[in-house]
Amino acid sequence: MYGFVGFRVYRTVMHRESFCFPLRTGVSKSRFISSFNDTRSRASRYSTMSEHIKCLIIGSGPAGYTAAIYAARANMAPVMYMGLQPGGQLTITNDVENFPGYPDGIMGPEMMEDLKKQATRFGTDIRYGIATAVDFSVTPRRVTIDEIIELTADAVIIATGASAKWLGLPSEAKLNGSGVSACAVCDGFFYRGQEVAIVGAGDTAAEEATYLANLASKVTMIVRKSEMKASRIMQKRVLENPKIEVLFDTVTDEILGEHSVEGVRVKNLLTHETREIPLTGFFVAIGHEPNSKIFQPYLHHDEQGYLKTIPGSSKTNIDGVFACGDVQDYTYRQAVTAAGSGCMAALDAERYLAALGIH
Ligand SMILES: Cc1cc2nc3c(=O)[nH]c(=O)nc-3n(C[C@H](O)[C@H](O)[C@H](O)COP(=O)(O)OP(=O)(O)OC[C@H]3O[C@@H](n4cnc5c(N)ncnc54)[C@H](O)[C@@H]3O)c2cc1C
Repeated sequence: MYGFVGFRVYRTVMHRESFCFPLRTGVSKSRFISSFNDTRSRASRYSTMSEHIKCLIIGSGPAGYTAAIYAARANMAPVMYMGLQPGGQLTITNDVENFPGYPDGIMGPEMMEDLKKQATRFGTDIRYGIATAVDFSVTPRRVTIDEIIELTADAVIIATGASAKWLGLPSEAKLNGSGVSACAVCDGFFYRGQEVAIVGAGDTAAEEATYLANLASKVTMIVRKSEMKASRIMQKRVLENPKIEVLFDTVTDEILGEHSVEGVRVKNLLTHETREIPLTGFFVAIGHEPNSKIFQPYLHHDEQGYLKTIPGSSKTNIDGVFACGDVQDYTYRQAVTAAGSGCMAALDAERYLAALGIH
């Protein structure tokens, strides 16, 4: 039906994700890339490497690791490919205080190491590599890793997450995790009684500004255009909130601070005037991009690219292909919801394989 669909690893993935690579992950970027290159050169020595896998998990965030724990304990011999961000989004944050079971909170990278250990303990085969193409029109399903390794799989669990969009300022990358965040629900609590800013103009930005206003002493909302994109009701909530000041026609020139956020310099696009606002938290809410491009020709998805699953399950429109975590969740995007849906995906995959008599 469709040809083999994929993308060029270096040209697209590396470029798009390079500046937000986890700064505090257990694996350094250079070590990861060199291992990635090793895989490529090792693979290129053989014209094609191929392997059949019972349960393939794509992605190593909370959804992927939870799916792996359940699949390994159900004797499904799961193989996981970690992608360009081993451990997923939590590796770029410091304190995680809302994941159940950690009463004192935990560092994001440490929590992901714990999940990895737990998945390994039950026998998950965890590998470096990026899924670069798939063919879901054939059975068993075909997946290419790093453009070279050909896999077939009886069940495929997609847990590739969604990447936050960033402004692209060097100061934003430098202070990421030290006052700069792309998740108000996750990190807003750390700024109780302090002044913060949020960039964005859509419904999510409006919702997050209102959320932050319940915690912070003041929220400055930076909006590039002369009006917000958010729905009327959300705009009204923002504009009527005495703790939120909206700066229209304004962009972020620089986030200020050496080791943590101390302020922001903004520029008015009409007057070209700049001014500095002292604050301690800077939130970016300009959207997320689900990592679903290679799957989109086969799987139902919404206009933003979030994969659609059959309600109450992790099943996609293709038998034997399951989706979990942020790649299929526009609404909640939290580690605990990702983990919960990872559990669902493994259980759905186990029942699917059992029904086919694949043991
Ligand atoms: C700054 C920040 C702070 C946050 N803080 C919190 C918090 O305190 N509490 C909370 O609950 N949530 C928090 N979140 C949200 C949370 O991180 C996500 O909801 C969660 O990580 C989603 O898990 P996931 O497994 O779906 O995807 P992700 O964690 O995004 O992981 C996706 C995985 O897929 C891999 N991948 C992508 N494409 C491919 C491919 N083609 N081939 C192979 N692998 C691929 C990536 O390498 C990665 O390992 C935060 C998010 C951010 C950005």
